Amino acid sequence: MPSVFIKTYGCQMNERDSEAVAAQLVAKGYSLAPTEAAADVVLLNTCSVRDLAEQKAINKMRNLVGTARKDRPGQILGYLGCMAQSRGKELIETLPDVDLVLGTQKFHRAAEYLDELLAGKREHIVDIGVEAKSEATIREHLLNGSAKTSVSAFVSIMQGCNQYCTFCIVPYTRGEERSRTIPDLLTECRELVARGVREITLLGQIVTSYGKRDIPSLEGKSAFVQLLDAIHGIDGLDRIRFTSPHPKGYGDDLVEAYARLPKLCESAHIPLQSGSDRLLKLMHRGYTRARFLDIVEKLRRSKPGIGITTDIIVGFPGETEEDFEQTLALCREVQFDNAYIFKYSPRRDTPAAAMPDQVPQSIREERNHRLLDLVNEIAARKYDGFIGRRVQILVEGPSKKNAARYTGRTRCNRIVLFDGSARHQGQLMDVIIERTGSFTLYGDPAVVGL
Ligand code: SF4
Repeated sequence: MPSVFIKTYGCQMNERDSEAVAAQLVAKGYSLAPTEAAADVVLLNTCSVRDLAEQKAINKMRNLVGTARKDRPGQILGYLGCMAQSRGKELIETLPDVDLVLGTQKFHRAAEYLDELLAGKREHIVDIGVEAKSEATIREHLLNGSAKTSVSAFVSIMQGCNQYCTFCIVPYTRGEERSRTIPDLLTECRELVARGVREITLLGQIVTSYGKRDIPSLEGKSAFVQLLDAIHGIDGLDRIRFTSPHPKGYGDDLVEAYARLPKLCESAHIPLQSGSDRLLKLMHRGYTRARFLDIVEKLRRSKPGIGITTDIIVGFPGETEEDFEQTLALCREVQFDNAYIFKYSPRRDTPAAAMPDQVPQSIREERNHRLLDLVNEIAARKYDGFIGRRVQILVEGPSKKNAARYTGRTRCNRIVLFDGSARHQGQLMDVIIERTGSFTLYGDPAVVGL
């Protein structure tokens, strides 16, 4: 049987899609190749969120065609995911050696199309159509004994987004919001727990909009909170997380869920994007800075010690120095545990790309540096605050950089390294934090077993 190598660009959703495709192919008898050079099939699962991510995948494919392919003439090459969806057959027109272009609603068709290509029945396949119920096809897991995947797993609960933020290409590449049913998700989560998973992260482009159109509110609880309640009831599951939410989704029912559901970890990644109301409006975000601050305040009251992280865009069209100062001021006020900062990257066919007053690259760079300095300074102070504290971690496995060390995560989603061994893997345990590194905490193994 053939072997496959999948390289993934972009977000956690893409990682999850790649895992599901790999698991579907393994179930059909494929093996997973250790490198692209050793594979019969190489698939690039692509990202379109920034131009740089698209260019990386295109350059990678050019390299595969130009060099690797000389050594393996029968190798099948394919693009999957967001860029495949948005560019379609144009990708084969520019690089005719590419065999397969598979859109975001077609991941589950990979095995059948690869069979046809490997058997020489078709020369090229491009499928980027819309497919009803495709959201329920991202469900197979590898859990191949690798430490990380067997303790903690990601579950795709919905696909698509209807928010249409003016800078974002996702609604065009992922389509309309489509949610899986609660019974279907419960079955998948129960199976994972039966296979040793102790922490589940619910995934989607806008998870807080889960089930909005199909599942009515019940006793003041949105569909998403009903799903959290249902998953919380699974015996043997210790931790629940989710990403990415939208600030609009933090109603009182979700805020209260943090206090009510002990398995729901006290960490929240709430994308802010800008601290200026004027820009939030131009971005079509649907909230104000006052509303954002209100959510943070309520969450901290509901769950003291909650870790709050965010995403921020600098250099959005029309962003003035005053707008940017408002973002800096909001960061000082909230004191985020961490923030992912993105320099605005125009995406074709999005409203923001055609807006006047595009901010020069040099100013985007400069604001990026200034914000990064502030965010890092706050984050370092917060990390230092952990020294001497006892925290619970879920041990994921050996550290990638140093196999003598084991790695785990706190409930507020910080990475902790400690001198551990295989017996700690998959355990929930307490450690005392001794020191900090760059976005890492170092725990004292002396408390293991206390
Ligand atoms: S909510 Fe998120 S995924 Fe949806 S359009 Fe806005 S940024 Fe994109």
